[in-house]
Amino acid sequence: MKDVILKVKNLKKSYDNKPAVDGISFEVYRGEIFGILGPNGAGKTTTLEMIETMREIDSGSISVDGLDVATQGDSVKQIIGVQPQTAAFQDKQKLSEIIELFSAAYGEKVSAKKFLDEVNLGEKINNFAEELSGGQRQRLSIATAIVHNPRLFFLDEPTTGLDPQARRNLWDLIREIRDRGVTVIMTTHYLDEAEILCDRVAIMDNGKIIAIDTPIKLIKDLLKKGFHKEQKVEQANLEDVFIDLTGKGLRE
Ligand code: ADP
Repeated sequence: MKDVILKVKNLKKSYDNKPAVDGISFEVYRGEIFGILGPNGAGKTTTLEMIETMREIDSGSISVDGLDVATQGDSVKQIIGVQPQTAAFQDKQKLSEIIELFSAAYGEKVSAKKFLDEVNLGEKINNFAEELSGGQRQRLSIATAIVHNPRLFFLDEPTTGLDPQARRNLWDLIREIRDRGVTVIMTTHYLDEAEILCDRVAIMDNGKIIAIDTPIKLIKDLLKKGFHKEQKVEQANLEDVFIDLTGKGLRE
């Protein structure tokens, strides 16, 4: 039997009588990277923010590691981590101060160096947030969200706007976090990213989950329905060319 860390049952939320989340049910297993995909307006953010205790639920239930989000929100907050928007950092704050600030908010005292090392930013400990590149800011925001060792970690479009090296570097970091036993729930508009990174995905549209499975199973199901497209024989793509020419090293 699967070890379920998140259980969502018949969850609903409307704005001005218009359903944004329309009775969805799904489970996330401990230790997986779970992707929530869907076009803009599908209801992804509303769903995530209800799980994160940031928006009130109209009806249905959410349980995070056995805790009920509606009645035990404060306890839920202790075991989840939400990647903050990188804009949340003060430009004139040093990285060490930022880590200390976030850990203090959870009543923890952590070694800023250790946390920055884990996201490959140890050398920047005395730099200001404004001196970081886009990829570095994303890694800093991940570090701030895991200072309290959450069991469930949420990322909202973590690689939007990053160059290919920074993007692959962030995939490695997300996998490392998963491999440490943290369950990861993420949204992305990049379907290649979801296919490579996510153990399972849910596809949302109009407030409903219209498919949920491993990427490979969803692709196989589509093929079984008779779908086919013109075959491409290339074993590489333009991004592979780019990485081959410019290297895998971080350019930050
Ligand atoms: P997604 O994250 O998939 O883009 P959202 O959850 O942000 O979707 O939005 C789902 C629907 O709910 C959209 O139609 C959106 O306009 C509406 N919506 C989201 N937040 C609010 C809000 N605070 N007030 C009114 N309508 C909202």
